[in-house]
Amino acid sequence: MGVPDLPLGIYVHIPFCVRKCHYCDFVAGPAPDEIRSAYVAALEAEIRACALAGALVRTVYFGGGTPSELNGAALARIVAALRDSFSFVAADLPDARPCLPLPGSAFASPVEPPPPPPPLTATEWTIECNPGTVSEESLTAMHEMGFNRISLGVQTFSDIQLQRLGRIHTAAEAAEAVQMARRAGFTRLSVDLIFCLPDQTLAEWQNDVEQALLLGPEHLSLYNLTIEPETEFGRRHRAGCMQLPDDDLAADMYEWVMDRLSEAGFALYEVSSFARPGEASRHNSLYWRHEPYLGFGVGASAYLHGMRWTHTRSMQAYLATAARPGGPERAVEETLPPRAACGEAIMLALRTSAGADIAALAARYGVDGEREFGATLRGLEQDGLLVRDGARTALTRAGLLLANTVCSQFL
Ligand code: SF4
Repeated sequence: MGVPDLPLGIYVHIPFCVRKCHYCDFVAGPAPDEIRSAYVAALEAEIRACALAGALVRTVYFGGGTPSELNGAALARIVAALRDSFSFVAADLPDARPCLPLPGSAFASPVEPPPPPPPLTATEWTIECNPGTVSEESLTAMHEMGFNRISLGVQTFSDIQLQRLGRIHTAAEAAEAVQMARRAGFTRLSVDLIFCLPDQTLAEWQNDVEQALLLGPEHLSLYNLTIEPETEFGRRHRAGCMQLPDDDLAADMYEWVMDRLSEAGFALYEVSSFARPGEASRHNSLYWRHEPYLGFGVGASAYLHGMRWTHTRSMQAYLATAARPGGPERAVEETLPPRAACGEAIMLALRTSAGADIAALAARYGVDGEREFGATLRGLEQDGLLVRDGARTALTRAGLLLANTVCSQFL
């Protein structure tokens, strides 16, 4: 497989957690020590056997699962395998310029935007942490290893809700984890929150956001709770013993947080992501721009040269095949035809404040943009869900509230 045109992103999956949260259907959960040791060895072998050795990398993201569940020595082995195998470059490409949101789009702020921040000249190394699994020592070790961005899964500041979700930490422990991360040296910190929790009111959601703001994060990721069928919440929902906020309340929660975070100096730069100037996740941005990335570990996905694949979700199969030439067993592998690849790229771009340059994307994938997407675009524009200005197209505020429906029109 040839080296890609653009520097890569790398995702590393750590599938271990103290226990399974009730809403989670990720490849993640508790595991005995011998599985953890075998997994770290397999992951290291997979990275060192990667055929793209020497390729340029601009972002690394350790997700899970709970990467902070691994001890420092195990994390250091994986980091060393990456450093030995790839060449690391600045997260921002030399010609990367933040592009101002389209007037009339949901992303345009009523206040004058600040001047663009300087580019990020270091590789972005992000690690996801569960507040219940960190100490000041472990966070300091992560920072010294080279992680320069941390994403903390706080989810809510209500202890009752945290218990309902099956989380292992309290709100006070989450707040303390933020303070410890700061003392450990992390200057780029993201907090994850979930809204539309069972029985959650608008006032409770507002309190969660205000508590998060008091901690001074550079970035917030806000997710609407999704009930996955194969989870404890899925079972409770089917049994009719869960009361979830209705669509109107969900829209009120989202609209309120958009305005509140704008007032607090955050830009909405993707449907679920808010950042202070210069603090957008470079790694996630690469997914939304349909740019190449590799994934290492069980259940991890990759996208390269128009092909995408996902590794087996079976730990046993992963351990048996991780180090083989060509990589671990794949559960899915597909090369998207040009129309589908272009539609997916438009769908991802529309989720962001940059919007979609339909003509440029059509040229990139060699499709006739007008023939394939013209009617859909005009229909959504007439319905007030999209706004177009010159080359760019973006979601309006009404479109943002229906983002999944609008974006899926291009698939
Ligand atoms: S900590 Fe995260 S990955 Fe682990 S079970 Fe909970 S939600 Fe899933």
